[in-house]
Amino acid sequence: MRFFNTFSRNIEEFEPRVPAAGTVSMYTCGPTVYSRAHIGNFRAYIFEDLLQRHLELRRYKVHRVTNITDVDDKTIRGAREAKVPLAKFTEQFKEAFFEDADKLRIKRADEFPAATDRRYIDRMIDMIGELIARGLAYQADDKSVYFRIKKFPDYGRLAHFDLTQLQSTGRVKHDEYDKEHIGDFALWKAWDAEDGDVKWDSPWGPGRPGWHIECSAMSMTLLGDQIDIHCGGVDNIFPHHEAEIAQSEGVTGKKFVRYWLHCAHLLVDGQKMAKSLGNFYTVPDVLAKGYTGRELRYALLRVHYRVPLNFTWEGMNESRESLGRIDEWLGRLREIVKRGNAQRPTPNVQSSIQPDFESALDDDLNISAALGFLFESIRETNRAMDENKLDSASATAWLDWWNRINTVLDLEPETQVVVPQEVTQLTEEREKARCEKNWKRSDELRDRISALGWEVRDTKDGQKLTPRGAS
Ligand code: AMP
Ligand code: ZN
Repeated sequence: MRFFNTFSRNIEEFEPRVPAAGTVSMYTCGPTVYSRAHIGNFRAYIFEDLLQRHLELRRYKVHRVTNITDVDDKTIRGAREAKVPLAKFTEQFKEAFFEDADKLRIKRADEFPAATDRRYIDRMIDMIGELIARGLAYQADDKSVYFRIKKFPDYGRLAHFDLTQLQSTGRVKHDEYDKEHIGDFALWKAWDAEDGDVKWDSPWGPGRPGWHIECSAMSMTLLGDQIDIHCGGVDNIFPHHEAEIAQSEGVTGKKFVRYWLHCAHLLVDGQKMAKSLGNFYTVPDVLAKGYTGRELRYALLRVHYRVPLNFTWEGMNESRESLGRIDEWLGRLREIVKRGNAQRPTPNVQSSIQPDFESALDDDLNISAALGFLFESIRETNRAMDENKLDSASATAWLDWWNRINTVLDLEPETQVVVPQEVTQLTEEREKARCEKNWKRSDELRDRISALGWEVRDTKDGQKLTPRGAS
């Protein structure tokens, strides 16, 4: 398996830190819960979901942590404006995050640590103390504590930045003059009146942690000093992940992350989808337009994670069509298996299932190529089925293959249609009537089936049942 590592800017062979253990530790930066996440954020979570599921298909046991940033400038401002306590303000967006993630079938991480949990605040305070002791951090006149980037020679390596080019990041407090270097970032932000009752005691006075130290502390607490994979969107590379490396390695002296994977942005009209630009949609926005979570999952999944993806309604319709082709294909295969060869003797066409889908994912998660193979296979098998040349053993083999790749894709229809017993029985009776060319009875039975809410169509593959009203 190979991945593009942002750190080296190269495709690298994947080998976890402890290969024999068969486990992979994975940290993925989660939502900042100051508003409902938009589907751009979910592109990142879906890419991470694909990565986890593919690692699992390849038999790794993935230990995944996704943090919840529930204290930062934006959450504090939101709580203040809503005139509610911070925890109450963030709770609604945490819930919304899980609700939306479930709709998109994103597998839950093993842990979702929240930054305000006392356990992690203590760890953050410990780490900051350690960084000060090592000369890597200092308390400035404004009482905040900053990381001293000049003392960490590797600072800038992940982002491939020259220190002299550093600009202010916007996520630090505004009084830049207290800092030794414009690129020094806040580890601990001294309390001020705007923070209200959001504060924790520390050796440097009351305050709250900076955003970057939250992830270092939560990752190290739950996954140890060194982890295999760390992900996020490309906007996380600098300063967030660069700062995480400086903090974690500054404390331990050990390499923090083996593989850094970042996904390109979801765009709208060529621009990043972002709250600040107002060009965003949430999951409920998309569902309100009549699309399903599955369709949105597919739309966000189908393009290689390192390629920017433009969000359009046309793209949503294409996704719907692609899924329709998968559904129809699965329906035909299942039908053949159900009938068996006894009823439908066919020439024994060997299935030609290739391992291409999985090898494409081994190649830096090349989902576009993987889906290409899937649709090629669908075309081929459909042709064989059209010519009545696919036997039930082959159909079973294709379904088994689908079940395997679907552990990664998770694209089965929303609800499996369950046909009531009574309807099945009437359909069987109708089949018999048709064999006997008793058309009157056949029509009567059709009406009875219809009265029970089902539509029966006669196709060259036999009768097809659909719930009335469904297309
Ligand atoms: P945030 O809640 O801003 O910390 O972002 C959560 C995750 O979403 C991070 O991994 C970001 O890099 C990612 N992200 C934000 N905007 C986009 C976008 N338009 N496309 C893809 N990922 C994004
Ligand atoms: Zn993070």
